[in-house]
Amino acid sequence: MNGYTHMVVGGLCGGLPVALSIAEQKLGFPIAGHALYPFVGILPAIIGALGPDIDMPNSKGGKTVRAFLKTAVTFSGVIVLILSIYVCIGVKSENAVDVLIPCAIFFGLSCCTTMFVTKCKHRQETHSGLVMLILLLPNIYIVRFTPAGLFTSVLLSGWSGFCIGWLSHLLADSFNKKGVPWLYPFSKKYFRLSSFVTGTQGETMFRNFCIVLFVTVYVVLILSRLPPIK
Ligand SMILES: [Zn+2]
Repeated sequence: MNGYTHMVVGGLCGGLPVALSIAEQKLGFPIAGHALYPFVGILPAIIGALGPDIDMPNSKGGKTVRAFLKTAVTFSGVIVLILSIYVCIGVKSENAVDVLIPCAIFFGLSCCTTMFVTKCKHRQETHSGLVMLILLLPNIYIVRFTPAGLFTSVLLSGWSGFCIGWLSHLLADSFNKKGVPWLYPFSKKYFRLSSFVTGTQGETMFRNFCIVLFVTVYVVLILSRLPPIK
């Protein structure tokens, strides 16, 4: 599926919890002391829906992430280099070390992510169910190990939206002719539910069908929770 279809499907999936919150007349849902605000997750869901295609250098997500990573590696690399010189010559070494360590970690992570993004093959690593599970780890960490507060709740809501968007991408690609390697790296089998081809009338039909289906579900969900008219 192309980027536009993924953004539409991601937004529609992110809209489901919003419809539920409207139906329940609640701004957020409690999770182990934290709160999940569905409306916060809408934009991250649309962005997350482009995520798996970072394995394509010419996709919207691929271009954006590569540009961001290039900037992150260059910027943090220069800072690490300058701070290392400060530490080596002993000028304000205590402060420099305090800043150098997180900068070096950020630089290392940026380099590793760049290597991963440039090495991974199209519709392989980033389209694996395993990566989807790894993406859920920050949410588990927030719920289990961070004190409840507005900031962590917004973070939890945003990242949940991103994960919903990422999942929506894998589901949408499962309707594509090539399918999705849900069990990669344990199995290289591609699973598919239908054979729509990217950029064809079939994809437009699929996208329009999703819009009608989701809007119907929103309306049914909201109407079913309305109090009966007396
Ligand atoms: Zn894809």
